[in-house]
Amino acid sequence: MIRWSEEQRELRTAIGAVAAKTGTDHIDRDATGTFDWDGWRRLRDVGLFSLPFGTAWGGLGKDLLTTLCVLEELGYRCPDAGLGFSVSTHIVSTGVALQRFGSTALKERYLPEICAGTMIGAHAITEPGGGSDVMGMRTTAVADGEAFVLNGAKAFVSNGPIADLVVVYARTGAPGDVSGITTFLVRRDTPGLSVGNPIGKMGLRTSPLAELFLDDVRVPRDHVLGGVGAGFLVLDHVMKWEILCGFAITAGEMGRRLERCVEYARTRTQFGATIGSNQSVSNRIVEMRIDVENARKWIYDTAEKLQHKADVADDIAMTKLVVSEGNVRSALSAVQIFGGYGYTTEYGVEKELRDAVGGTIYSGTSEIQRQRLAALMGLDRPLKPA
Ligand SMILES: Cc1cc2nc3c(=O)[nH]c(=O)nc-3n(C[C@H](O)[C@H](O)[C@H](O)COP(=O)(O)OP(=O)(O)OC[C@H]3O[C@@H](n4cnc5c(N)ncnc54)[C@H](O)[C@@H]3O)c2cc1C
Repeated sequence: MIRWSEEQRELRTAIGAVAAKTGTDHIDRDATGTFDWDGWRRLRDVGLFSLPFGTAWGGLGKDLLTTLCVLEELGYRCPDAGLGFSVSTHIVSTGVALQRFGSTALKERYLPEICAGTMIGAHAITEPGGGSDVMGMRTTAVADGEAFVLNGAKAFVSNGPIADLVVVYARTGAPGDVSGITTFLVRRDTPGLSVGNPIGKMGLRTSPLAELFLDDVRVPRDHVLGGVGAGFLVLDHVMKWEILCGFAITAGEMGRRLERCVEYARTRTQFGATIGSNQSVSNRIVEMRIDVENARKWIYDTAEKLQHKADVADDIAMTKLVVSEGNVRSALSAVQIFGGYGYTTEYGVEKELRDAVGGTIYSGTSEIQRQRLAALMGLDRPLKPA
């Protein structure tokens, strides 16, 4: 178990206090699909976006574990899961990619604005034709002098409608070639880049999502992240951070939900007794507790390994499965425990179930995570009969 230092706990408390003031009108904004600009500014001003970035670029210089500790608190304190999702997308998609793979000049130019939240980041990997088969992407980037010319369409870009910078993954080599993908940092105001209207969705409705179109978009060669053909490496690094940061917030949300359910089950009475005194209800709550403790263990254990540069290919897939699927179970249990009130929009409990479902799809679906784990166990290559 990680023992957080005094400094880490103070940082978590300070940012958590601000997070607790955000998202209070989340149920109304969920109905209209409205982003919380006021909450964004509060979180920006308290330094949340700058946590894992070097002090040379305006960051707080915190390590991955500290960043996750604070993000879990964000999920625990702020009831607007969409805002949390946008925050994590912003930090990881652009900031983390830039810090690890950007040139010094690019970092100097953009990281301070990412830390300050004055430029919002997004990333565009998935295409209308497919998300799971990343290597099959069709958006092309063709070298032309000191620039690359990008053409194609991207689907499901979180933060797309509000982004100033988009990290675009495009094909520079043959389909299926691991070194055939390149990552580009593209400014929203680049001619030829257009963003579609916000797309309505089941949950995380307060986090804006859109399609993105690239029509002869010229991106300077010095805006390539990680070198030509390194897109797969960039994506691998970013996905590890995306899963850990995004689902640390989810673990916080699960913790808050558990406390709410305990409180409700201890105070709501039926047949002259609290509903929690019935084993069928308390068992659900115990399962919710196991799900949140599992989530925390997997996230911090995997993060610790990653911080020590260990191979976490299978840990990441398992973390994603444990947390995302545990979150759906826990959110469904909460609806059941709250009964009719859980089904109404007023209590915000049904919204958590809608928000939770997305977690089994984004950052690699549950099926793809299981397929990865099976491949890591050699199950995709059956032994030939003797
Ligand atoms: C809320 C949300 C936010 C998102 N944000 C972003 C973002 O910011 N940027 C971005 O690029 N993308 C984003 N995405 C897209 C997301 O990454 C993709 O939706 C996801 O990778 C799945 O791709 P797909 O939708 O094309 O489904 P498909 O790949 O078409 O899959 C459809 C179904 O078939 C299954 N399937 C596919 N192949 C296999 C296989 N080999 N074996 C077993 N089952 C298989 C899948 O698991 C899934 O159930 C977001 C998605 C959501 C829901």
